[in-house]
Amino acid sequence: MKFSELDFCPDIMEGLDAMGFETPSPVQELAIPQIIDNKDLIVCAQTGTGKTAAYLLPIMDKIQKYKIEGFSTLILVPTRELALQIDQQMQGFAYFLSISSLSVYGGGDSGVWDQQKKGLMTGADVIIATPGRLISHLNLGYVNTKQVKHLILDEADRMLDMGFYEDLMQIVNHLPKQRQNLMFSATMPEQMRKLASSIMVNPESINI
Ligand code: AMP
Repeated sequence: MKFSELDFCPDIMEGLDAMGFETPSPVQELAIPQIIDNKDLIVCAQTGTGKTAAYLLPIMDKIQKYKIEGFSTLILVPTRELALQIDQQMQGFAYFLSISSLSVYGGGDSGVWDQQKKGLMTGADVIIATPGRLISHLNLGYVNTKQVKHLILDEADRMLDMGFYEDLMQIVNHLPKQRQNLMFSATMPEQMRKLASSIMVNPESINI
């Protein structure tokens, strides 16, 4: 399969070219059409399989194609490092697009906090966040989640290992009920099935 068969808009194709991506990886080949089709999805895939682009590309394509404005996509991750890595990959794809992203993570001094607060109040199309820090900002009313259409949990098993179950549920309660949910994980522990059944609607499963 070629990326050209996936019917992405021209600006996404240019981004793929610029990033040197030619052929979709197996997880991309399986997940992208389902995500374009607005399905909820549980993907069991290790890091290094191309899972990040598997959700970034179709979500960015939808934002561009349907001219979705404002904060539409929330990506929750276990660590600052993963947030920055995803943000960097997104910036690469978004080079020819006007899609903005913001990462929000714990730690750092008050300067980092103020910068995140300012960023959140200005808004971004895609916010990549660690759960604890996002909740702090949510509780202070700095984030408007009313327009969120896509929720992505990346490395969901690690978030659960780190004890984020309650935080994840609290965040989900701030989101509109009508939304697409995507869950990516290297393993599928029982607690993840529980999480999936409480936040997803008839999810499709992909195992790589
Ligand atoms: P990930 O599994 O998302 O952490 O991706 C692992 C690495 O593979 C990242 O550096 C991506 O930029 C790269 N990558 C992902 N998909 C492709 C692709 N279809 N073609 C070339 N490189 C890719």
